[in-house]
Amino acid sequence: MEDSNHRLGQKKVVAVVGGGLVGALNACYFAKRGFEVEVFETREDIRNAKVVKGRSINLALSHRGRQALKHVGMEDKIVSKGIPMNARMIHSLSGKQSPIPYGKKGQYILSVDRANLNKELLTEAERYPNTKLNFDHKLQDWSAETGLMTFARSDGSKTQVQADLIVGCDGAFSAVRKQFMRRSRFNYSQTYIPHGYMELTIPPKDGEFAMKPNFLHIWPRNTFMMIALPNLDKTFTCTLFMPFEDFETITTGNEVIEFFQKYFPDSIPLIGVDALKRDYFRLPAQAMVSVKCSPYHIGDKCVLMGDAAHAVVPFYGQGMNAGFEDCIVFDEIMNQFNEDLSAVLPEYTRVRVPDDHAIADLAMYNYIEMRAHVNSKWFIFRKHVDNL
Ligand code: FAD
Repeated sequence: MEDSNHRLGQKKVVAVVGGGLVGALNACYFAKRGFEVEVFETREDIRNAKVVKGRSINLALSHRGRQALKHVGMEDKIVSKGIPMNARMIHSLSGKQSPIPYGKKGQYILSVDRANLNKELLTEAERYPNTKLNFDHKLQDWSAETGLMTFARSDGSKTQVQADLIVGCDGAFSAVRKQFMRRSRFNYSQTYIPHGYMELTIPPKDGEFAMKPNFLHIWPRNTFMMIALPNLDKTFTCTLFMPFEDFETITTGNEVIEFFQKYFPDSIPLIGVDALKRDYFRLPAQAMVSVKCSPYHIGDKCVLMGDAAHAVVPFYGQGMNAGFEDCIVFDEIMNQFNEDLSAVLPEYTRVRVPDDHAIADLAMYNYIEMRAHVNSKWFIFRKHVDNL
């Protein structure tokens, strides 16, 4: 086992575990404050990877996420590569399309490329001389008493690193959180919903978007639904959300076409018969989990943010946005308590747990809203609570 001492100078060392969306943004926040920041990420550097494995190809970025990006000077860069979506576009069975605006005229959410957003944030974090990015570092274990972390490398070696503060941004299946689970009075619940999701692509038509681009397209079908978000390369990424047991009943290419003919007929010429038959079987449907826990901190040593603290189902489009907001809320509390971590961490838990739990509940509520109520007149009365 190799031992390394990462304490440079007198400044406190902050270890951000996870270099995903929230970890990379958080690194910028801590670096801006002058901490010695080390990011530890399991994966290779995605900026050099040919294929970036991730959960969804694109994401909806909304106001709360933009505010957090703005604080580290990243808003304009990200917004310039996003596609505004002013309204939902509801596709009926007959192929009729009806828009439902997200807000007042001029208000919109943005479709952004997940991989690009992650790359830009990593590059921004690296611009700070007091930040170091460590890829191929998988957290195995850590001590809440000493802050000593053990990382596994892909060559089989292990590295130990000590930090003053450990920030767990390592996603829904957080290794940092495991240490919390061993402690008394830690509340934890996780729920897998019966639905899975699968991504399909609508290619450009004659070099242009095959559907109107400035919309989040929705095909609500009560017990399941499909959505499509636009990408800069003029494709749309469709996501089919459906109970696993329904995914499993479709086993041949012809059955895929029959199913789409019955429920999403207008999408078949857009995706293409051959692509549909092929892509449906490319990857199995992915599971979705909702995680709630509290507290979010241990003493003055460790804090959880992003999906590590609150993985939510994606139907409210707020998982990343809420994770980004975690960073700005933490930063404000750091100002309030003069960076005294023994006061900041409990206050962060006190302030943030109720809000993140509310987002998780709203996301679960919208799980039904989007696939069923959006179909009904009743939706008109509910839409003001959607996308707060
Ligand atoms: P992650 O993105 O999961 O990143 C965690 C990082 O930690 C990863 O890079 C991982 O490799 C690394 N890691 C894991 N374990 C370790 C370890 N042991 N050691 C070191 N590193 C580790 N949110 C929105 O706001 N808008 C949307 O439109 C939206 N759409 C979604 C659609 C789908 C289908 C899904 C599934 C989610 C969607 N979300 C959306 C939610 C969003 O993807 C998450 O909330 C967001 O990715 C959380 O970011 P994170 O950095 O906390 O976690």
